[in-house]
Amino acid sequence: MFRKILIANRGEIAVRVIRACKQIGIPTAAIFSEADQNSLHVKLADQAICIGPPPSIKSYLNVHNIISAALISGADAIHPGYGFLSENPQFAEICGSHHLTFIGPSPEAMSQLGDKAKAREIAHKAGVPIIPGTPVVENIEQALKEAKKIEFPVIIKAAAGGGGKGMRVCFSLKELEKNLPLAQGEAEAAFGDSRVYLEKYLIHPRHIEVQILGDQFGNVIALGERECSLQRKHQKVMEESPSAVINPSTREKIQKMAVRMAQAVHYSGAGTVEFLMEPNGNFYMIEVNARIQVEHPVTEIVTGIDLVIEQISAASGEKLIYKQDQVVIQGHAIECRINAEDSRTFAPSAGTIEKLHWAGGPGIRVDSHLRAGDMIPPFYDSMIGKLIAYGRNRQEALNRLTAALDETEIAGVKTNLAFQRELTRLPAVQKAEIHVTFIEELLKEK
Ligand code: ADP
Repeated sequence: MFRKILIANRGEIAVRVIRACKQIGIPTAAIFSEADQNSLHVKLADQAICIGPPPSIKSYLNVHNIISAALISGADAIHPGYGFLSENPQFAEICGSHHLTFIGPSPEAMSQLGDKAKAREIAHKAGVPIIPGTPVVENIEQALKEAKKIEFPVIIKAAAGGGGKGMRVCFSLKELEKNLPLAQGEAEAAFGDSRVYLEKYLIHPRHIEVQILGDQFGNVIALGERECSLQRKHQKVMEESPSAVINPSTREKIQKMAVRMAQAVHYSGAGTVEFLMEPNGNFYMIEVNARIQVEHPVTEIVTGIDLVIEQISAASGEKLIYKQDQVVIQGHAIECRINAEDSRTFAPSAGTIEKLHWAGGPGIRVDSHLRAGDMIPPFYDSMIGKLIAYGRNRQEALNRLTAALDETEIAGVKTNLAFQRELTRLPAVQKAEIHVTFIEELLKEK
C-alpha cells in the first residue's frame, strides 16, 4: 500500500478522498491555491502545500508545482479527483516518471478514451453499439456529405470534449455549415484541439451510465447503472441508482457492454461507461469517463462498495476483491448537486457562507467541504456539496431527499436549493418520466 497520497484537487472531492485515506490508514498531503488557504481539505489532510495563485491554470492545473509538492511531501501516489488533471494522460505519465503512482487507469487507456472519436472506434471494434456518426470531420464538404447519410438532426461534438462543452445541435445543412467552424473554434479554445465529429442527435434519450471497477490483472466488474437524465446545458443536476426504467435483464446487457468496453482498453481502477437510451429501448455508448465521478456516492450506497478505496487498491496493484456475482444492488439512492448559483438565472454566486445547516437523519449522506464562515471563491466550479438520500425504494429515497432539501439552509450566497426542491416535487420526476432535455424544456415553458 502507499506511504502517503497527495490529493491534487480541492472542494468536496478532496475531502472525500482524505476521508477514504483516513479509513484505510494512509497519510495525506493536500494542495491548495492562495484562494483556498482556509478550506476544509487543507485542515483535514496531514499536511498541506500551497501550489500557487487562485486561477486554476496557476495552481490546480500547474503540473510542475503539483509534482514538486508531491516530492516534497514524500507522497508516493497522487489522487487526481475529478476535473482539473484527472483525465490528462500527460500528467499521469509525468507522475510515473517521478515514481509517483497516478491513481487512475494507465496513460495509454486514458489517451484512448480521452479522444472521444477514438473511443467510438474502439467501441465499434469491440462490438459495443455507438450512435450513428462519423470519425473526425476534416472539412465542411465532408461534414455535409456525412450529415446527409446519418440524417438530421445531428450534433457536433469535440473529440477532446468534456463537461458538456463545445456541443452544437444542427437541424439543417445550413445550420451545420454555420456551426461547424464555430464548434471547431470553441473546441480549440476550450481544449486546445479543434477536432470535431458528428453524431445523430437523439430526441428525448435517457442518460444511463455503468460504473465499472477494474484491476491490473484484466478483471473488470460492473456496479449497476446510474440514471443522470436530469441535466441542464448537458451538465448533470440530479442522479440516481438504479434507474427506474432498467430491469434485471437489460442491466445485465448494458453491464456486459460496459465491461467489454473497459477490457478493450485494459482499464484499471474506477471508471464510467456512459450510454444514451432511446425511448424505444436502444442503447448506444457515448463516452467513457476515466476517473471517479461526481455522482459516485449513489452507487456506493446501493452496492455498499467504497469506490475511492477500491480505486486506491487497484492503483497499488491489488486484485479486485469482488466478483461480479457478489455485487448486489439494494434499495435506491438519489443525489442532488447543490451549487452556489441563482435558482432562476443559474448565474454563479461567490461570497461568504453566513449560515449553514445540512439535513440529517436516516438515509441522508452529505458530501461537502462547506462550513459556515467559508468564502466561496469565484475561480472554480460552483458545486458546494451533494445531498444524497437512500430509501428501500425510489419513493422513499425521493421523499427523504425532498424533506432533506427543505431542511437544508444555506445563507450568504445564492444556491440552487429552491430549484432542486421544485424539481423533486414535479409529477414527472416523481414518476421518473424524464429525459436529457427535460429540464431545458421545463425552463422554456416558464
Ligand atoms: P461531455 O463529455 O461533454 O460530458 P457527452 O458526450 O458525455 O459530453 O454528452 C453529454 C450529454 O449531452 C449527454 O448526457 C446528453 O444529454 C447530450 N448528448 C450527447 N450526445 C448526444 C446525442 N447524440 N444525442 C442527444 N443528446 C446527446
